[in-house]
Amino acid sequence: MIKYIDMHCHCHEYSVEELSRFIGKNISLVCVSDDPVSSWKTLELKKKLGITPCIGIHPWEAHKYSEKHAKEIVELAVKNNVKCLGEVGLDKRFVSKTYDRQLRIYEIFLKAAKEYDLVLNLHTAGAWREVYELLVKNDINRAYFHWYTGPLNLLDEIISSGYYIGINPAWKIQDKHRKVIMYASLENMLTESDAPYKYKGLELRPDYVIETVEYIAKVKNIQVEHVLLKINDNYEKLFKSPL
Ligand SMILES: [Zn+2]
Repeated sequence: MIKYIDMHCHCHEYSVEELSRFIGKNISLVCVSDDPVSSWKTLELKKKLGITPCIGIHPWEAHKYSEKHAKEIVELAVKNNVKCLGEVGLDKRFVSKTYDRQLRIYEIFLKAAKEYDLVLNLHTAGAWREVYELLVKNDINRAYFHWYTGPLNLLDEIISSGYYIGINPAWKIQDKHRKVIMYASLENMLTESDAPYKYKGLELRPDYVIETVEYIAKVKNIQVEHVLLKINDNYEKLFKSPL
């Protein structure tokens, strides 16, 4: 069944009732986690609501954790048949001080993604190239750059490597992101919210993926249904399974 897709939502910050309302609007949720506790919560939500879970340690939380915790998250993923690690990655823009620790943790997740053929749901702020080059170096096949705002020339490399980028409702106010939508091919796009994050007064919500699909259709001058079909198709290719 064709659905709207939110590829990157911090579901653990919502109640089951709130999430049910979004799911009731024909939105399929891919739920990311920030740390061990939220990873457990995400697994609970999978049981209750049938969301697609991603578990991991967010680069903003890296200062609290070590490689040992990252390995425990990987074990948890394998044991529970979780197909996605996230939110993981690197950040040089907001938390550059913890970069070395972030890198050690990211490397654990990269190795696990390769070994178990997992999707990486990636945070890449200010470290787009570093994240990308480590994907290539580790021979990773399945990666998603959430809310891509990096350089357009790197986008060419991301696309030719077969990775995906996330289109966020921030297009409403972020010029840089609108340029990404214009430049990138629909072949490599997925939609997301990063809810319930607040970006410059914009309270991100999962149901904004509906307007985002409409906006992409307008920019690309194609029908909304076509965009939606393509995004469903991209999800299936990335996860190697239907919604
Ligand atoms: Zn996020």
